[in-house]
Amino acid sequence: MLHFLNFDTSQLPSEKAQVVICGSGIGGLTTAIVLRELGLETLILTRGIGNTYYSQGGIACASHPEDSPYLHLLDTQRAGRGLCREETLRILVDEGVQRIADLKRWGVEFDKETTIEGGHSFPRVFKVKDYTGRAIYEALWKRVKDLGIRVVMGELQEILGEAKVEGIIYYDGGLKLIHTKALVLATGGAASMFLYTSNPVKVRGDALGIAMRKGISLLNPEFVQFHPTVVKDTNILISEAVRGEGALIIDQKGERFVDELQPRDVVARAIYKKLREGGDVYLDLRVLQDKGIDLEKRFPTIYTLLKEKGYDPQREPIPIRPASHYFIGGVEVDSYGKATLEGLYAVGECACSGVHGANRLASNSLLEGVVFGYRVAYRVYHDLPFLKEEERKVKHKRKGMHNPPYTFEDLRKLMWEKCGFEREERALKEALEKLRGWLEGWKGWEDTIENRQLLDISLVALATLTTALWRKESRGVHYRVDYPYEREEYRRDSLFSIFDDLYTN
Ligand SMILES: Cc1cc2nc3c(=O)[nH]c(=O)nc-3n(C[C@H](O)[C@H](O)[C@H](O)COP(=O)(O)OP(=O)(O)OC[C@H]3O[C@@H](n4cnc5c(N)ncnc54)[C@H](O)[C@@H]3O)c2cc1C
Repeated sequence: MLHFLNFDTSQLPSEKAQVVICGSGIGGLTTAIVLRELGLETLILTRGIGNTYYSQGGIACASHPEDSPYLHLLDTQRAGRGLCREETLRILVDEGVQRIADLKRWGVEFDKETTIEGGHSFPRVFKVKDYTGRAIYEALWKRVKDLGIRVVMGELQEILGEAKVEGIIYYDGGLKLIHTKALVLATGGAASMFLYTSNPVKVRGDALGIAMRKGISLLNPEFVQFHPTVVKDTNILISEAVRGEGALIIDQKGERFVDELQPRDVVARAIYKKLREGGDVYLDLRVLQDKGIDLEKRFPTIYTLLKEKGYDPQREPIPIRPASHYFIGGVEVDSYGKATLEGLYAVGECACSGVHGANRLASNSLLEGVVFGYRVAYRVYHDLPFLKEEERKVKHKRKGMHNPPYTFEDLRKLMWEKCGFEREERALKEALEKLRGWLEGWKGWEDTIENRQLLDISLVALATLTTALWRKESRGVHYRVDYPYEREEYRRDSLFSIFDDLYTN
């Protein structure tokens, strides 16, 4: 267990909460609502809007009489390339119907027609035009307000307790303490540790690093999904649905060079190759207009975002590039979101319940957030009476005065260049050596919030680099140019802890 900041808990403003939920995306909000409905006092700590709000496509669920959870399971397994955990995947596909009904009950007005997305064999994706995530977020947020759940705007800094959770320290202009015996991490993924990303700035992956300092292992952190069509120099994503309707990917000569409907990683690698050769890549939405599709009506969010950035998709092709999008790995949890430290739970993108295996199927992550958010709430409800309360005083002092020898931008560049779509031994080793060198003197860093964040994100990067180097094969989203095929001996999970380094299941 390692702390970073200087603090003395006996000096901090403090309060008590039965349960603290950190993060206000679909995972955290669902957990909070269900716990409140079960009669518990919950407190949501959040830094602000995360990925959920920006989700465009939808949420998958086999609800149609001609579809079946089993088909959904098979589709997910096909994408997951042998690494999906069957127990949790069955839960995901089976419990979706109840949770979609809950979302409706809580106020989400899905479109009448469900739609199909890449990798799904049936049109099972529930959507609200092209702003499904926002619609879900707003409905859940309203429910949170109606139920009177307390929301604190602040940033998690430290988890307290040795063998179990005893509390947390957060920052909202000053350090503050909350005593609690149950903490649910719902802090989203860590895809933003790459130079180009579709993730908003509030989702930084640093809370995973905070958990790692408590001895928590990350499961499968090498699996990071890249999205092929993000508008150049922004984090604006243009969803697959646009290509599904016929939008084309072209180069600077206006020529197509890839089948737009291939899986995400294949399209992303083709675009990346083109860019590396010095070309430019565009998404041409004008064809949709020629087909009689009204862009403004069919894709109102994308249309507005593009207009705000000065692009007119009706007149010009939009410059795009691939960007990191989804962190498949995360805190190792059981089928109720329980982590290996007593009193700690994780849900949503920060958790790894094993449902996605080595590649996430489109629209399965919102589903994961709501299905497992519900289950975490029930688990916490039953665990609470058995969790022992302890409020030991903790003092942490160290004399660090230095600045780190690198910045977040340096780290993001390193990850992008050496551990992006195409990975290989030499580059991964170079990156690991560089990162380890940067981290060597971390105990001498000044105890600022920014330095704490940088350390914690770097720990996640360390996990990703180490496991990417270990996995000498290509599987799902992990592509090694020096091992461009799956290898049976690697059909297993990786697990990384900063205390034990790498071990594998
Ligand atoms: C552009 C885009 C489009 C997407 N489209 C889809 C889609 O159509 N369908 C689908 O299934 N998935 C989609 N995804 C993925 C999906 O949005 C996410 O996987 C999912 O929303 C994650 O939910 P979550 O609750 O785990 O976290 P998030 O919604 O990311 O929320 C994380 C929360 O944690 C808070 N937080 C983080 N760190 C701290 C800290 N240290 N202290 C306090 N608070 C903290 C953040 O402020 C935020 O409130 C998309 C993702 C993006 C980026």
